[in-house]
Amino acid sequence: MKSEVSKLLIDLKEQILYLQELGVENLAVELPEFSISPKSKVQSSKSKISQERLERFVPTDFELPKIEPAKATTSNVENTSTRQSLLESTKLSRLPSLPKRNSFLSNKPIEQARETEMPNQPIEETPQETLFGDFKPTLPESKETIEEIRLDIGNCVRCPLHEGRTKIVHTTGNLAADLMFVGEAPGANEDAEGVPFVGRAGELLNKIIASIGLKREDVLVGNVNRCRPPGNRTPTLPEAHTCRPFLKREIAVVRPKVIVVLGNTATQNLLDTKVGITKLRGEFQDYFGINVMPTFHPAYLLRDPTKKREVWEDMKKVRDFLNAS
Ligand code: URA
Repeated sequence: MKSEVSKLLIDLKEQILYLQELGVENLAVELPEFSISPKSKVQSSKSKISQERLERFVPTDFELPKIEPAKATTSNVENTSTRQSLLESTKLSRLPSLPKRNSFLSNKPIEQARETEMPNQPIEETPQETLFGDFKPTLPESKETIEEIRLDIGNCVRCPLHEGRTKIVHTTGNLAADLMFVGEAPGANEDAEGVPFVGRAGELLNKIIASIGLKREDVLVGNVNRCRPPGNRTPTLPEAHTCRPFLKREIAVVRPKVIVVLGNTATQNLLDTKVGITKLRGEFQDYFGINVMPTFHPAYLLRDPTKKREVWEDMKKVRDFLNAS
């Protein structure tokens, strides 16, 4: 009983620390003094990530302190360089086994996927029969490399966004990553540097990544559109549809276990749906057999920090899935 209460208190403390890290204010909570012997050290999850995270916050001879009123702190922000050079060498051949998902978004027939999403892409069809006899396509095996996709993108002039760009902003990070983040399109900072999510939204994204015990260099980060829309407007559908196939081809090469899509535009474009982010967030969706977690865009969180709680809930699901897989 005592150890159950301890676990609950530690869980609670972890959540409060996370919210404080992300700058949520008015979290003045007083937790009772409660000591835990090293033997009963938290085992709330077998997971490596949550274990590491707990160890960061909860030393072995832990005694719960009183929580001070919340302060925005940068102490846990990873000082990561966002200019990770691409680790071009690794290619994976696994397909993840996935838990329950909403599958209504991805029943697009293979032929249609071939035509619209993966031009120039040899496809091996590996349909899976369900209980009801219909087929749910999984991600086709990619025969190309990230380098080849880059070469194909070239000095792209396929849509009007090229006119205003400084640099094409390609997907960056760990090409063997289990976790990928997908945003909408570059902003001014990204356009200047040629790297996704380096502005204020990017700093917050780094904190979100750190909140589940990972570093920016552990994950892959990209956008649906690679060129900055003028005035940071939302890319039009034709613009998104012109650029999207390259992202999808990259996903087919890297085959992450989970993709977190950030915000409405990225979610709707990756999943090919008109359903909004408020409805979709928080539940795993299916993208050709890959688990997709839609959540709010960091730029939205900068405008409305109260929404960080929902993002934390979504990220915990992502963390738990990755730990279990
Ligand atoms: N917002 C995005 O969606 N992508 C970026 O790279 C930066 C900001």
